[in-house]
Amino acid sequence: KAKESGRNQYRFYTSELNRDAHMMMNLRQSVKASVEDDFSIVFQPWFSARSGGIIGIEALTRWNTEVGNDVSPSVFIKQIEESGLIIDFSRWLFGEVFRQSQQWRVQLEHGLKISINLSERQFLNDELTDEIIRLAHKYNLDPSWFVLEVKEKALLADPERAARALDNLNRQGFSIHLDDFGTGYSALMHLQNMPICCIKIDQSCVKDLMALESKRRIMRAVLSLAESLELGIIAEGVEDKDTSEWLLEHGCVLQQGFLFSPPVEPVEISGILDELPVQEPD
Ligand code: C2E
Ligand code: MG
Ligand code: MG
Ligand code: MG
Repeated sequence: KAKESGRNQYRFYTSELNRDAHMMMNLRQSVKASVEDDFSIVFQPWFSARSGGIIGIEALTRWNTEVGNDVSPSVFIKQIEESGLIIDFSRWLFGEVFRQSQQWRVQLEHGLKISINLSERQFLNDELTDEIIRLAHKYNLDPSWFVLEVKEKALLADPERAARALDNLNRQGFSIHLDDFGTGYSALMHLQNMPICCIKIDQSCVKDLMALESKRRIMRAVLSLAESLELGIIAEGVEDKDTSEWLLEHGCVLQQGFLFSPPVEPVEISGILDELPVQEPD
């Protein structure tokens, strides 16, 4: 019996390995040969639940190949990092976001923010952060129109180095938001030394908020923590009206999620921006 399950495990292991190897091979091809054909960027707006105004849009990457369609960006970005192609990929990503951003220049001048996710390997790479700054200038865009979303976990391996890297980007004008807050251990002492202006509460904290008093209790604590640290707050993964209203009543005005809009193609963002006022958060 043990032998049998051992063998199954082995088979499972090799097929996993094959799948990863297959994915890696495809990724390398996509990044090296045709980044702009195989990847695209969708944008998900975030709103003021109070006024209904649009505050910002988050860029989210998609890998549009037969293999890639089923792979989450959180997985393929990590693989791209491990394959050593993250600089090539990020150069394309930032170039593409900045290129797209130019069509929303009027709204950006009125306070619209565009947020871009940045992983640890990305923001700790000096060559890459210099490139990001250079690209923003090349496209004649004000870095203060952009937000870089970094995950808490990514800051804690080497907090001093992370703080230096983020300070550098922040001095150039980029705002830094802390993504996926509430999913891990919050090292508040470290976070206090980082140029973070806003925390983004992870969707896992928002999910089932109305069903579970325990989640509401944690959420109240997180919201009051953010308030006393004078940090802005955004809730992600807001899927229903009751949750949205509860969050608003408890002081979480900025919200993102399927209730408002899924991630959409850039052309749809232009449509939304034509209809909705852009509003600076109060
Ligand atoms: P994230 O930055 O926390 O992004 C939020 C994720 O939640 C997105 O998934 C979005 O599509 C999804 N989402 C939005 N509203 C809702 C909702 O109401 N309910 C639920 N259940 N989900 C919602 P996506 O696009 O699959 O991205 C997953 C993660 O991959 C992102 O999490 C981010 O960490 C990473 N990622 C995506 N694009 C990039 C990128 O260009 N660079 C880097 N470094 N990471 C990226
Ligand atoms: Mg994010
Ligand atoms: Mg997030
Ligand atoms: Mg998240």
